[in-house]
Amino acid sequence: MQKRPVPGFERERIELETCSICKGKAVVNGVFFELVCIYCNGSGWVVGGSKLVLSSDELVTQLSFKLQEAQREIAALKGPAKVSGIQRQHNQSNRLGAGGTNYTGD
Ligand SMILES: [Zn+2]
Repeated sequence: MQKRPVPGFERERIELETCSICKGKAVVNGVFFELVCIYCNGSGWVVGGSKLVLSSDELVTQLSFKLQEAQREIAALKGPAKVSGIQRQHNQSNRLGAGGTNYTGD
């Protein structure tokens, strides 16, 4: 049972793009040391298109969304999703089942 988010109450996903000033590194080279890039609030990301800087509060949430997205992509790259793997096993055992029935044992 999964709770479905109520429409209109979901947090907005803001499209982010790499900060062109620090090139996404979040810091710029100062004279003696690296400085936090003020054009992207030290995040390396700005709002896509408008290149606006997000506030720290909003930034944390949007970066979390982005990180979750990246983690899902990494998980997908690491191999087939567990669900499809289980389904494939089921299909195989169905074919091997006695009398060719679809009995899966569960
Ligand atoms: Zn920047």
